[in-house]
Amino acid sequence: MTDATRQDVSLRRQAEELLAFIRRSPTAWQAAGQLASLLGEAGFRPYDSQRPLQTGDRGLVGHGSALFAFSVGDNPLAGGFRLVGAHNDSPGLLVKPNSVVLSEGCLKLSTEVYGGPLLHTWFDRPLALAGRVVLTGSRPLEPETRLVSLERPLLIIPNVAIHMNRTANDGTKVEPQKMLLPVIGLADAKPDQLLERLLAEALGVMPEAILDYDLFLHDSTPGTFLGLEDELIASPRLDNLGLAFAATTALAAAEPRSGISVVACFDHEEIGSQTREGAHSLYLRDLLEKIVLSLGGSRRDFLSMLERSFLVSADQAHAVHPNFGEYADATNRPRINGGPVIKRAASRSYTSDAATAAAFQALCSQAGVPCQTFVNRSDLRGGSTVGPVLTEHLPIPAVDVGNPIWAMHSICETGGVADHAAMLAVLRLFFSQD
Ligand code: ZN
Repeated sequence: MTDATRQDVSLRRQAEELLAFIRRSPTAWQAAGQLASLLGEAGFRPYDSQRPLQTGDRGLVGHGSALFAFSVGDNPLAGGFRLVGAHNDSPGLLVKPNSVVLSEGCLKLSTEVYGGPLLHTWFDRPLALAGRVVLTGSRPLEPETRLVSLERPLLIIPNVAIHMNRTANDGTKVEPQKMLLPVIGLADAKPDQLLERLLAEALGVMPEAILDYDLFLHDSTPGTFLGLEDELIASPRLDNLGLAFAATTALAAAEPRSGISVVACFDHEEIGSQTREGAHSLYLRDLLEKIVLSLGGSRRDFLSMLERSFLVSADQAHAVHPNFGEYADATNRPRINGGPVIKRAASRSYTSDAATAAAFQALCSQAGVPCQTFVNRSDLRGGSTVGPVLTEHLPIPAVDVGNPIWAMHSICETGGVADHAAMLAVLRLFFSQD
């Protein structure tokens, strides 16, 4: 096997691991659970703020559907925090309470739109259900929560035939209240406790034990390689499980030299981050301070560590589109498999500035991978991510980066095999910096 072939095999294996992780992570809750078990295998242990920490310790903190992990390097209080922030939620459809509807001999579920999905991509797809179920606990304020994933294709949102909607190809407005009710079966009458019975069977409990649930629909088609050289990957939820996975696996693989390396995977980025599990919460800042106290440091140590810290906000980026090149800026046109993308915006909807962008470019060059830049067209507003929200509470230098993908927020997004490996290499290097 030549070196080039060996490298191709290694890139493919890394992308396969990403696709397998995404498949096992239909919602943020499953993603947090999967990341926690991956970290557990790499020696990360649940963090207990009452117990002291020392160099070499690796900690793990679940906070609802958010997940935080850290590793303590040499002389940790003299270094700073090396932080990577990502999000583990994706836009989609959330099942409403009391959602079962009977019409035209079909049982349907009414749904609400979560975040900003490309809604037309949700039609004519085999859909599955996943999320969490809340069961009766020993006390009213402490119910039991279980994750659930009904992996078989169970639902579909059918389009209207072209013969009945001759203007469909001229653009169809998607009306969520009328059009986003997936069919779950055929029936003449509405059965009692339809979802409760399905969930109870999956969990091995009685339907009466189910108090409530948060259920998302998701594409049951797994991600795949494509392209002449299998150089592309097409998968649901690349935004942002791609970066949540890259950051976590990089932390698990890195040998930190000094300071404290941290990965923070937040939920609810797609709906603005202003929740308990979102990047707007003070949870991360409090956690970092508690880690410093567990190392025998003080609040003063914590504040001076912030002055020596750096944040990489990692979320997918837009690649120039093959059929819509006009949506890209004239000179900043990231290509798939062209390497990690630094995101810039005058509005500071991305945190990057010249100094932090240069720092990230230097990391890419040290890792031997190319690096690209994204900036919105001057007449387009573009998106944002966790970086600007995090730096409100953690005023540290930060850069916004991602991998270039097509069709962001589609039910199936397309990215590059080489980009995933490149980002992994750069983030591993970041965690190894003194
Ligand atoms: Zn994102």
